[in-house]
Amino acid sequence: MIHVDLTETDPHQRFRHTARSWLRQNLPEPLPAEVRGTTAELPFRRRWARQLAGAGYAGIDWPEQYGGAGLGLAERAIWNEEWARARWPETFEDTCDQLGSTLLASGSPEQCARYLHPMLVGDDVWCQGFSEPDAGSDLASLSTRAVQGADGQWRITGQKIWTSNAHWAKWCYVLARTSDDRHRGLTFFLVPMDQAGIDVRPLCQMSGEKHFAEVFFDRVEAEETVGEVGEGWTVAMTTLAHERFTRAFRLSTQLRNDLDDLRSLAGRTAAQPVRQELAWLESRVRILQWLLRRDLTAITSGAPVGARGSLHKLLWCTTDQRLYELTARVRGAATLLDDADWTTRYYWRRSESIYAGTNEIQHNIIAERILGLPRVL
Ligand SMILES: Cc1cc2nc3c(=O)[nH]c(=O)nc-3n(C[C@H](O)[C@H](O)[C@H](O)COP(=O)(O)OP(=O)(O)OC[C@H]3O[C@@H](n4cnc5c(N)ncnc54)[C@H](O)[C@@H]3O)c2cc1C
Repeated sequence: MIHVDLTETDPHQRFRHTARSWLRQNLPEPLPAEVRGTTAELPFRRRWARQLAGAGYAGIDWPEQYGGAGLGLAERAIWNEEWARARWPETFEDTCDQLGSTLLASGSPEQCARYLHPMLVGDDVWCQGFSEPDAGSDLASLSTRAVQGADGQWRITGQKIWTSNAHWAKWCYVLARTSDDRHRGLTFFLVPMDQAGIDVRPLCQMSGEKHFAEVFFDRVEAEETVGEVGEGWTVAMTTLAHERFTRAFRLSTQLRNDLDDLRSLAGRTAAQPVRQELAWLESRVRILQWLLRRDLTAITSGAPVGARGSLHKLLWCTTDQRLYELTARVRGAATLLDDADWTTRYYWRRSESIYAGTNEIQHNIIAERILGLPRVL
């Protein structure tokens, strides 16, 4: 039997308490609806990111020499929870969780010194160039090519798609093919977006927002690689693991907030089917939070994130989608017509079972790597 102690240590409790009161006292005004999704959003995000950095609450587990707070992963998890609990607006957390963690794990000290602090405060905005029209779930089949010229310079040609934030990004981290070997033929590049040969074509969603884009590369120069040439698959797996695991602390707390709101909205007179659903959701949120805490203990003791991230992702995504379905029922159908802001959030839930790996892919990973079932060819 596995025994896991879920109680927080005194220093962690103190950190939680201090972070909570700072966040409460320094909560900024929400982002104005008219700037959301446009480049006018960036100055707001940058101001908030600098406010966090100034107070020592940015890059919680990054070394101080790179602008971080020099604390551990446990404090970062606590911070992510408290930040979400306070309903602080988003800055550049996703990039820091994904690329920041990747650079710290696989980048050189020079790369960490050059890229981490500008990423933290939003001076450098990044996008992720992994998916292609014919390579999403099967990422290793991607065909964007990087070729090294006689001058030693890498040049990239190909097409990426669903590239979030490409329209305002200064940099893109790109997974590209450097040889024909399926996995060992991939390399992780850092590519400046302000150069000739890059064509960003935004994709318009049904909400009117343009969250992501198609990105075309025509002999585009790469600045450098993260890890060695041919190690891109391993490097990219670190990015995806953090996209699932580290982010889950924020999302599980957002779930908590939204479920508390729904419980208040449904009130004491909620009909029996609604009560049944609320109870089901409550159990899922608690399971997710306990699971995260248990896995955090293992990971801070040196275990890899690995397939655990798939369990977290599947749990938060399926619970969140069901929570929003129930909220729509409780609020009434008219809410989808009357409240544009809420409706956008409602439809966004649909994408949760696709990005950071689809539900089916998470099921495959859990089946093969946690349950030990044979791989289906
Ligand atoms: C909001 C959003 C933001 C995104 N941002 C980015 C980004 O910034 N950068 C980036 O690179 N990508 C991004 N993506 C792309 C995302 O990673 C891909 O959409 C995802 O990996 C799925 O790939 P696909 O769309 O090509 O679908 P496909 O891989 O074509 O899958 C289609 C369907 O087949 C199923 N399927 C595929 N293979 C299997 C299998 N082996 N077993 C069972 N079922 C299978 C899938 O689950 C899915 O239901 C984003 C996506 C969304 C929705």
